Amino acid sequence: MSFFSTRGGACVTASQAILWGLARDGGLYVPSMFPQISPERLSTLRGTSYHNHAARILRDFLEDFSITEIEDAVQAAYSLDSWDDPTIAPVKSLGDTTHVLELFHGPTLAFKDIALKLLPHLITLAAEKNNEKREVSILVATSGDTGKAALEGFKDVPGTSCTVFYPHGGVSRVQELQMVTTGGENTHVIGVEGNFDNAQTGVKKLFGDAAFHEKMDAQGKLPSSANSINFGRLVPQIVYYFTAYTNLVNRGVLRMGQHINFVVPTGNFGDILAGYYAMRMGLPIRKLICASNKNNVLTDFFRTGTYHTHRTFHKTMSPSMDILVSSNLERLLYEAADRDGAQVSSWMKQLAEEGSFSVGAQRIEKLSEVFWADYADDNMTAEEIRRVYEQHGYVMDPHTAVASCVLKHYREETGDPTITVIAATASPYKFAPDVARSLLGDEAVEGLDFFACAEKLEKLSGVAIPHQVRDLLALPVRHDTVCAVDAMEAAVLDALKK
Ligand SMILES: *Cc1c(COP(=O)(O)O)cnc(C)c1O
Repeated sequence: MSFFSTRGGACVTASQAILWGLARDGGLYVPSMFPQISPERLSTLRGTSYHNHAARILRDFLEDFSITEIEDAVQAAYSLDSWDDPTIAPVKSLGDTTHVLELFHGPTLAFKDIALKLLPHLITLAAEKNNEKREVSILVATSGDTGKAALEGFKDVPGTSCTVFYPHGGVSRVQELQMVTTGGENTHVIGVEGNFDNAQTGVKKLFGDAAFHEKMDAQGKLPSSANSINFGRLVPQIVYYFTAYTNLVNRGVLRMGQHINFVVPTGNFGDILAGYYAMRMGLPIRKLICASNKNNVLTDFFRTGTYHTHRTFHKTMSPSMDILVSSNLERLLYEAADRDGAQVSSWMKQLAEEGSFSVGAQRIEKLSEVFWADYADDNMTAEEIRRVYEQHGYVMDPHTAVASCVLKHYREETGDPTITVIAATASPYKFAPDVARSLLGDEAVEGLDFFACAEKLEKLSGVAIPHQVRDLLALPVRHDTVCAVDAMEAAVLDALKK
């Protein structure tokens, strides 16, 4: 299998796509085809471990990796030292037709761990395969969760470094503490005086800047990406769509072959795109429901066919979805354009120059056969956290609650009775103050710090506070650099010199 660029160029191997992150023409790498998992093969996966599902699914995409390399990488990434559930992504049930796929049992309590525990292994293998001797310098823009997950994944991995840019003041207290207390000799954390889109645009600019590449090269460094634009981030996420499915079949909730829906809280469109890839590989998915917060640019896109980013940026209590430019949508556009890279290029050019583009009625109608989209603002999200707790005794984080709320809208509007899985992307403890406030009201949390709020949640849910949250109280702050949006290049070069 080879990889093309969404903008028409490139024909590279899987290891090159993973090592380089972004194609030279600014496009994203996409697989030349979707390997098929037949119903028979799906049946043989049923009842086997997460690791087995992962190795089986990865190996068809990563053709220039050996099966042993993939199996070893999977074992290392999903070892029980780092995960507090042996199934990695357990499925909880809220009644017969609604199930919650918990993707937050890894080291940083958000679903990003699933990909970022594996990516460093794939990147170091990819560097070897391409005889790359330079240090692989990972540059990351984060809306809150990717940063810590990348830092944990790459911390002290030989031959790599990891530099994270986050919107200063734009992430939750727990997210910020998690990042700035990171240990390791090769980790760097920099606050940007701007929002996530500024940080992401800044990092993308660096990747596209030949002069920056030369300066890095002179320092013996190869810039690479751990954002979800990297195919190595995307492919591990396909796996849990399959494990969720076989898990429900195993428990007798689903018949093999029966269709299901997934509702996914969406920001950069990586998670839900992995679901779309799973569907293209043959997983019986009927609808992928795209849930946004008040930054509802994707809702508008799926309803009108027009993507427009010139709008107010809202800070919400689901900060990992506070995004107006969803990078991975480009991969879906590539499929919607019947793999016409020139068409995608022209849309992306319009987006860069005018802040919007339209794909036309016919294409959006076609996409609507699979995708449905809506959003929930902070009030609806808080109410949903309360409703789910009252009805099911289950405490959701705000991102997951956005998805749950949008699922409610979907069912009200369509009456679709299909069994649906909610992708639960973060532990409620990661956003303890907002979750506690949603459940108990403003007065009950007035003046409480995140840990006191976590203690309230522990009492309500009966789920113990994860050690990662307890640990934050004792760890020293090791990173305190803040830079302006236009000073990101200097900040990286400076950090990497140290
Ligand atoms: C990153 C993130 C999302 C959004 O995922 P995308 O792949 O960017 O769409 C949702 N919820 C949480 C908790 C996240 O960390």
